[in-house]
Amino acid sequence: RIVHVNGEFLPEASASLSIFDRGVLFADAVYEVTAVLDGGLVDFDAHQARLRRSLAELAIDFDPVAAGLIDLHRELIRRNDLQEGLVYLQISRGVADRSFLQPANIRPSVVLFTQAQTLLDAPAAQSGLSVITRPDKRWHRRDIKTTQLLYPSMMKTLANEQGADDVWMVEAGHVTEGSSSNAHIITADGSLVTRPTSEDILHGITRAAVLDYARETGAEVIERPFTVAEAQEAREAFITSATAFVTPVVAVDGVPVGDGRPGPATRRIRAHYIDHSRDRLRY
Ligand code: PLP
Repeated sequence: RIVHVNGEFLPEASASLSIFDRGVLFADAVYEVTAVLDGGLVDFDAHQARLRRSLAELAIDFDPVAAGLIDLHRELIRRNDLQEGLVYLQISRGVADRSFLQPANIRPSVVLFTQAQTLLDAPAAQSGLSVITRPDKRWHRRDIKTTQLLYPSMMKTLANEQGADDVWMVEAGHVTEGSSSNAHIITADGSLVTRPTSEDILHGITRAAVLDYARETGAEVIERPFTVAEAQEAREAFITSATAFVTPVVAVDGVPVGDGRPGPATRRIRAHYIDHSRDRLRY
């Protein structure tokens, strides 16, 4: 694989980052994951806008447009001949002697790599996912897409050890989100219920696209927190993320959702999301 580090394209084995990078020592870094379909980028502009917001919240001085971020993505896709998968982008505050005081005037470190991955025909789209629930013990600025991913990584691992696919995190009795996805349900009356955006969850790009679509088709969309019991009693449940697109959830803490199989509304939303994304790819 060819990767990109601080202005250079090079083979992954030759790429390196300082051990004093603040991303390594403090998770003082933000990231984005953009899906690639048919060699093109899905919803790049929305990812770039969220990146800007994450950078501003952490006062990391990096301008995605001036840095030609879209061209770095395009070039990496080209050099790796990537058709389907993702581009991972990480920007840290930069390199400095270890100190809790954030240094001013250092140069942000920029890393990009690609990962080939089956997205359209992912097995989970057919089988659906089983999730377990766990308390959400992350920090309270989940709207900033930082690389502090230890807790959700631990919980996903725990879920796998318990024979489930993933975790839904719960706070004050309500589902926040998945380990790396937003969580949604379709209630008995056909409404799409999803937690509103706030500092409690990541403002998912896929979430926003799916809500737009649901509203356009006249579906009832209700942005409110929902409980684990509501998810277990829902007609359907699903997650959204840049690489999972729209993936059904068929069990919550061992209780089947609906008839325990992916439902028609989720299938329809997934198909539409994919069509819509393919129509607007950026090359
Ligand atoms: N929530 C969390 C915690 C995530 O890590 C992600 C994506 O990685 C999402 C939600 C989904 O966001 P997006 O649709 O922008 O990928």
